[in-house]
Amino acid sequence: MYCKGKLEKKLVARIQEYEGRWIVIENLPALVCDQCGEQFYTPQTHDLVVSLITGKTRPVRTEVIEVYDAASAAWHSSVK
Ligand SMILES: [Zn+2]
Repeated sequence: MYCKGKLEKKLVARIQEYEGRWIVIENLPALVCDQCGEQFYTPQTHDLVVSLITGKTRPVRTEVIEVYDAASAAWHSSVK
C-alpha cells in the first residue's frame, strides 16, 4: 500500500484481459482506498474472478468496448 487511506468495502466494476479479450466483471466486492481510489481484492474475490472467467458462467450481457491506442495519438505536439 502506497498511502495511508482508509479501505472501504465496495462493489466495483473490474476490467481485465483474458486470452486476448477484455472482460468486465460488475458488482465485485473490493476494498477501495478512500484517498487514492486504489482497489484491493481478497484471495476469495480473486478466485471468484478466475471461476467466472474460466468457468461455464454465461455473461449477463455483451458490451462493445472502445479501444484507443495512446501510441498513435498525437499528444506529443499538444502537450508541452
Ligand atoms: Zn490509497
